[in-house]
Amino acid sequence: MKISCIGLTKICFLLSVSVCVVFFLFIPWMTHGSLTQHPLLACNLTCSNRYLESQLKIARFSPRGHNQSDVLQGWKNFNVQGGGLKDTNYLKGPLRIDDLFIAVKTTRKYHKSRLDLLLQTWISQAKEQTFIFTDWEDQELRQKAGNQMVNTNCSAVHTRQALCCKMAVEYDKFVLSSKKWFCHLDDDNYLNLRALLNLLSAFPSNADVYVGRPSLDHPVETLDRVKGDGSSSLKFWFATGGAGFCFSRGLALKMSPWASMGNFISTAEKVRLPDDCTIGYIIEGMLEVKMQHSHLFHSHLENLQRLQQNSLLQQVTLSYGGPKNRRNIVRIDGSLTLEQDPTRFKSFHCLLYPDTRWCPDK
Ligand code: UDP
Ligand code: MN
Repeated sequence: MKISCIGLTKICFLLSVSVCVVFFLFIPWMTHGSLTQHPLLACNLTCSNRYLESQLKIARFSPRGHNQSDVLQGWKNFNVQGGGLKDTNYLKGPLRIDDLFIAVKTTRKYHKSRLDLLLQTWISQAKEQTFIFTDWEDQELRQKAGNQMVNTNCSAVHTRQALCCKMAVEYDKFVLSSKKWFCHLDDDNYLNLRALLNLLSAFPSNADVYVGRPSLDHPVETLDRVKGDGSSSLKFWFATGGAGFCFSRGLALKMSPWASMGNFISTAEKVRLPDDCTIGYIIEGMLEVKMQHSHLFHSHLENLQRLQQNSLLQQVTLSYGGPKNRRNIVRIDGSLTLEQDPTRFKSFHCLLYPDTRWCPDK
């Protein structure tokens, strides 16, 4: 069959018009970076099941792009560089503070004694990205934090069930957000936002990443009561919640069968493990994604006085010993005395943000 020259031109013209139409239709998706943002705007609990299904489909069928060895390579490079603030990853990297969903777990009795300090210090630098998960409708905190305060309605006790209840709400709220990274913190943690962005930028975007500090020097071994019938055992590492930890969105979506819509509580019940441990169980045990061990996260289970002053600014999280161990604090020669700043969080904040109104040198 012969096609005349004019016919060919027409076909070419029609083809280019259709390519342009398809391109313009896809632009909003591409610029939002996620195909899943739009349903969220009007989403509530009744539609979030459908939303989760759609998220899961995308997680299952999109090519992963990066495998575990890519993740490890990025991580190795990061460690070799030292992961300091001088790394330009933080400046160059595609990751911004707005890509983070930061969950702070607290409870009624610590709103004043612990949370106020965080609000004055690091949370003031990430107000819109930080959500405070508590167990009491505190009007004063609501005034300060607005919708960033989440009343989980979980009970205000230090039991496995109550803490898992909060973690479940944190997870669900993160999934319903469009953020790239979930980071969990306790209310006695200082989060160094720059160091965190610097660290997370070292991982390829879209990789399955779970990063934090192991609380033990060996993996946990438990009976496999979720995948198996409880006759075989499972070994896995977990990142201690008291030092803070993060995982990426892609990984969070894969955790959904064990973690979303209340499933986190039943998983924790089945394995009879605390909240942070259950996270490790799901990620390492169920999904077989390795935890990335980091020495940049710190809880008060370690001796914080040992942290070298010249590496302090590179640390992602810090903590302090409670009333039982008041001397377990980081050593910082700042101009704030121990009476003025018993946790040393204010002094650390002044090192990072010297222009803060209440910093002594200001
Ligand atoms: N927490 C809580 N409910 C409670 C007691 C503690 O949600 O009844 C939270 C607390 O706010 C903190 C975390 O659990 O974020 C760990 O508590 P804590 O630091 O007192 O204990 P530890 O670090 O020794 O486990
Ligand atoms: Mn603690």
